[in-house]
Amino acid sequence: NMHDISEATQITPSGRIDRARHGWRAKCLQRLIRMELPVPRSFAISSDIVRMIAQGRRVPPDALRDIFHGSGLVSVRPSAVMPEWGGPGTVLNVGINDALHARLTDHIGRENADAVYLSFVQSYAIHIARLDPDMFTQDGPDALAEALRLYRDQTDEAFPQDPAEQLSEVLRSMARAWDGPTARLLRQAKGAPAHAPLGLVVQEMALALGPGLCGTGTIQFIDPVTGTPRVTGRFRGQHHGGAVGQGAETLYLTRDDRGPALEDTAPEIFADLVRFGIAARERLREEMQIEFVVTGGRISVIDATRVARGSRAGVRIAVSLARDGIIPPEEALMRVEPRALADLLHHQVDPRAPRDVIARGIDASPGAATGRIVFSATAAQSAQSRGEACVLVRRETVPEDIRGMHASVGVLTERGGTTSHAAVIARGLGLPCIVGATGLTIDPRARTLRIGTRTLAEGDEITIDGSSGEVLAGAATLLPPALDDAFTQLMDWAAEAGGLGVRANADTPEDAETARRFQAQGIGLCRTEHMFFDADRLPAMREMIFADTPEDRRLSLDRILPMQRQDFTRLFEIMAGLPVTIRLFDPPLHEFLPHDREGLRELAESMDLPLSDVTRRVEALSEFNPMLGMRGVRLGITIPEIYEMQARAIFEATVDASRRGAPVVPEIMIPLVSAMREVELVKTRVDAVAAAVRNERRTDFTYRLGVMVETPRAALRAGDIAAHSAFLSFGTNDLTQMTYGLSRDDAGRFMGTYVGQGVYAEDPFHVLDRDGVGELILTGVQRARETKPGITISVCGEHGGNPESIAFCHDAGVDYVSCSPFRVPVARLAAAQSAI
Ligand code: PEP
Ligand code: MG
Repeated sequence: NMHDISEATQITPSGRIDRARHGWRAKCLQRLIRMELPVPRSFAISSDIVRMIAQGRRVPPDALRDIFHGSGLVSVRPSAVMPEWGGPGTVLNVGINDALHARLTDHIGRENADAVYLSFVQSYAIHIARLDPDMFTQDGPDALAEALRLYRDQTDEAFPQDPAEQLSEVLRSMARAWDGPTARLLRQAKGAPAHAPLGLVVQEMALALGPGLCGTGTIQFIDPVTGTPRVTGRFRGQHHGGAVGQGAETLYLTRDDRGPALEDTAPEIFADLVRFGIAARERLREEMQIEFVVTGGRISVIDATRVARGSRAGVRIAVSLARDGIIPPEEALMRVEPRALADLLHHQVDPRAPRDVIARGIDASPGAATGRIVFSATAAQSAQSRGEACVLVRRETVPEDIRGMHASVGVLTERGGTTSHAAVIARGLGLPCIVGATGLTIDPRARTLRIGTRTLAEGDEITIDGSSGEVLAGAATLLPPALDDAFTQLMDWAAEAGGLGVRANADTPEDAETARRFQAQGIGLCRTEHMFFDADRLPAMREMIFADTPEDRRLSLDRILPMQRQDFTRLFEIMAGLPVTIRLFDPPLHEFLPHDREGLRELAESMDLPLSDVTRRVEALSEFNPMLGMRGVRLGITIPEIYEMQARAIFEATVDASRRGAPVVPEIMIPLVSAMREVELVKTRVDAVAAAVRNERRTDFTYRLGVMVETPRAALRAGDIAAHSAFLSFGTNDLTQMTYGLSRDDAGRFMGTYVGQGVYAEDPFHVLDRDGVGELILTGVQRARETKPGITISVCGEHGGNPESIAFCHDAGVDYVSCSPFRVPVARLAAAQSAI
């Protein structure tokens, strides 16, 4: 009977253990047992039984009696379907009572036996009998007697002596804990369903106390930050579960860690562990951490868990498993979370540059950054608001510091280890971080930092090298992010997997270089108005906007033309024949106008006009709804000379760049279209400019004219718009804004409330809204392809770099997405995953 409450299944190589019923831990132990690793006798209790126990059924102790065997002690551990769903804390040493205590005393000595019994009484009192934890902290020679007496006083019952009854109570308490609201919230945060099943594993305990080499340890075979092969771990001699025995000492595993090492004291045990590790990696197809116990020189493998890893390590582990033939490359691609790739793209200190090392700590989060020292989160936030890079230096960090960490370029703490708050948060943020830099003395009052003989003050510049754990004085030379071999390999596999294409949104030569480095398949959006935000270009743009006679406008356009030609030539050269999509001006005019008196006066000065003229013109140009006003193609239709100038710059650059390098086929894109006639008008003029340039330059070239679909009407009318277009590119930023009637620039005010109350599942500007905006995209794609089956269709809004949105684009039959250059690797991986 499957639902027999008394059924605890012994885990054997051929027994029926499945993950859905018994949980990941039970399944993993079965695999270790099949590998013939020395796993102590283990039993799986299925989630059906655990649920019945939680609902009040009691496991009859008689049914559990057979479990006690050997040492007479067992542990109980949670076994949910997924390890990250957690579970109630492990309970150790179940089974100890007066009789076993007496036997243990003969075998391992009174003190050790006391330690084991005490540890169980305390944990049972607190976790099972739910007595006050403050009362059960006894220590010293009479501690055991005292704890037993206190237990009796508090419960009016003697400490339970029947091992099976103890176990039955432990099972009940763990089953109940899993049903509690806290546990439910915690696992839901990790993506578990509210009523996720829980299995339990009961395992005989090997004694890690007593004569000969005894103790408990963990071993893993890769570096959790970089993912490179390296044996690390700890061995705690004479530590048994929560009980610390006589002569306890901690050893490193290898002598590389510069301390007494198990590798030296027990070379055969070390060699066996390494052998087990290699076998486990192959059979479990994963990098594992192994938990083991040594009893008088004999090893027991008690558990194995997936090694916790940073994002760099995650990539390297997946790639090396595939390179070793343990998993196929497609699986390596599927194992890496696309977002994690963003963390790999950090700066590093140039190894060739001089290094003025002032302190060392633990390399907690990779990457390097230079900034001015601040000692508090508040100071970090005000540095950020001044536009200053800062490094947050703290004794250790607490949750209140998170905002300060967000505002910093790096974090340095005096205390803590690889899993301390600062380390975990910094890795999550992709922020270079060093923890446990013990040589530091921080004086938060005086706002100084003493390191050896040096004293640094708030505002002094330092460099954090989170990859080496070194703190450097001053600003070190930084190299752009290292694209190491594992990263490159993964990206190559992503390219082989196919899927939709990925281009970059790039406005500057630097953007284009980054796009090339990340193997973007071209530029999908060059926002030409962004080429005029720099202080030396802004006046030319303003002049053009301000011109109120055709003559003045021509003069200012003549000034802009060579700048644009130069801009485009450079982009074409960098992209070396890859497609480059240039969007004609889409300037929200208000962004280029001065907003205050000071700005107006400066403009009047630079244009040599009376202030009153400038003020009047600004007023005349101002709009109530600039984002729905004279933007995009509306400007192009109203003042055709602007687009004509841009078309000329593009074509002249095409001729120049093609002469020097690969032939260029520019793609020209019209923004904010809502009617087919707009496209016709612009196309006629652009064709005319092309003819003129061909004629003047006595050379031929081709180009492609496309349309941005970013108004709902353009999506609905995509059928007739497609007739005049070589490609369509969905501008999902504006399309989202206009579909929801939600201002891109103002939605932040209530977005938190809206998402918090579940009005929107997510911010639709981050994750594409499949139901609404998505339907417009599907409609647009279908209507465009009905008219012109071969038309190229892309998405170039911010959603182009978002993995969930990319999956949607894939399903919608989009040919490529275009996103900011640093998101290209993320998008390439997400695209490959959609195709697998
Ligand atoms: C868009 O609207 O999605 C788009 C790409 O254009 P921009 O963000 O420049 O308005
Ligand atoms: Mg737009």
